[in-house]
Amino acid sequence: MSFTLAIVGRPNVGKSTLFNRLVGKRLALVDDQPGVTRDLREGAARLADLRFTVVDTAGLEEVTDDSLQGRMRRLTERAVDMADICLFMVDARVGITPSDLVFADILRKRSAHVILAANKAEGKAADAGVIEAYSLGLGEPIRLSAEHGEGLNDLYTQLMPLADAYAEKAKDDSPEVDVDVSDEDEDEDAVRVPTRARPLQVAVVGRPNAGKSTLINQILKEDRLLTGPEAGITRDAISLTTEWAAGFDTDPVPMRIFDTAGMRKKAKVQEKLEKLSVSDGLRAVKFAEVVVVLLDAEIPFEQQDLRIADLAEREGRAVVVAVNKWDIEEDRQAKLKELKESFERLLPQLRGAPLITVSAKTGRGLDRLHQAIMRAYEVWNRRVTTAQLNRWLSGMMEAHPPPAPQGKRIKMRYMTQAKTRPPGFVVMCSHPDKVPDSYSRYLVNGLRLDFDMPGTPIRLWMRGQS
Ligand code: GDP
Ligand code: GDP
Repeated sequence: MSFTLAIVGRPNVGKSTLFNRLVGKRLALVDDQPGVTRDLREGAARLADLRFTVVDTAGLEEVTDDSLQGRMRRLTERAVDMADICLFMVDARVGITPSDLVFADILRKRSAHVILAANKAEGKAADAGVIEAYSLGLGEPIRLSAEHGEGLNDLYTQLMPLADAYAEKAKDDSPEVDVDVSDEDEDEDAVRVPTRARPLQVAVVGRPNAGKSTLINQILKEDRLLTGPEAGITRDAISLTTEWAAGFDTDPVPMRIFDTAGMRKKAKVQEKLEKLSVSDGLRAVKFAEVVVVLLDAEIPFEQQDLRIADLAEREGRAVVVAVNKWDIEEDRQAKLKELKESFERLLPQLRGAPLITVSAKTGRGLDRLHQAIMRAYEVWNRRVTTAQLNRWLSGMMEAHPPPAPQGKRIKMRYMTQAKTRPPGFVVMCSHPDKVPDSYSRYLVNGLRLDFDMPGTPIRLWMRGQS
């Protein structure tokens, strides 16, 4: 079995329905030891060609928010800790409730990887709830209908790269570690410190020989908590965790870095290099919060670099572009100018993303790279108030009014931020489907400039008044 998926969420959102759909009749194990409530169900799941273990917090009654402090919270935390990936389910027909926020908070603190699903999403009645789900800041929700079996493709698409990565990891992890999840006797009121405070997830991607391994090794050298080479580092085929402090004026930041170079070397035998480095990149990008696209100064912006940078943008990750091997560059000013021009031209979708020159070999520029990663992450999480947005929107419309296609004047009434990670905004307007792309681009570019949001994709949706 490659990985464990926990389905979590408040009662009645449809967890069991999905569990049953994934497990079918193959229910493997029910926790029915004497004296133990049957609270965590575990089963062998199947989704297309994926095989995994699924855990469900079954049989919870709807409770008042107070008791979330107790049994429900404990049970959810247990499920989350058992799992590699969590599927957080909300009810798209009901929208986001205060209990959902409590669950979101648990997941943000404890889970390595969260997939958000808005269930009961069949039909139009669910549209508003799906949009509301963005506000949880857990990424783009999958539209799911557990009852009708809709959206399972999207679930598969999100799980597949993770499944691959875990399969690879499992091959390396021997022997299996025994995890003690029995906390039945724990005091309900005891304060629980999250056992898995989550490090910042960074992927270093780029074409072969760009210098990814060299960069990662240089970062490891800057881990001030290390006493010897690689001491205290958990390193596996796909990632390593480090406390990177660049220079002496930055605080060490716990980071989990996805090492696509390592992934490539592992699997080189089976697959062709070109194909593989793209699928490695894909996997790493899926895991990451911030993607560092590492270019070779000698051969920057190759097709492969462009593909992976575009992928990072489409997946909604914060992006930093680092140009490596700067130590061998002679005319740096001319080169930098040329790089900036190519960047604007070839990757307009990443406009404003920081371009940092580094030498992975000597370590020069790594402090700036560190700063750029932290800043991109901050911007990616940025929230702009509705009041600010609406003031801004009227200024933008005054400067450049929306067009009137086929004589229909588009009225933009109201704007709000629907989500973060990356920032996403909704504009309420008349004739949302008539707003030309050029006008949306005008707004997105304006948002980026006026609210200082470089290095992050920005999403914008036009909605009709409901
Ligand atoms: P759990 O408490 O989260 O495990 O929720 P259940 O799986 O028991 O589902 C709660 C209710 O929602 C049941 O009446 C299900 O039939 C219903 N339900 C589950 N999935 C869907 C769905 O996709 N669409 C609709 N309309 N109802 C659903
Ligand atoms: P990867 O395939 O992306 O992991 O690339 P490597 O880290 O294996 O580096 C490829 C080659 O580039 C090696 O020969 C490195 O020594 C060299 N290299 C990496 N970074 C730098 C750098 O900053 N300056 C110079 N001059 N060479 C570098």
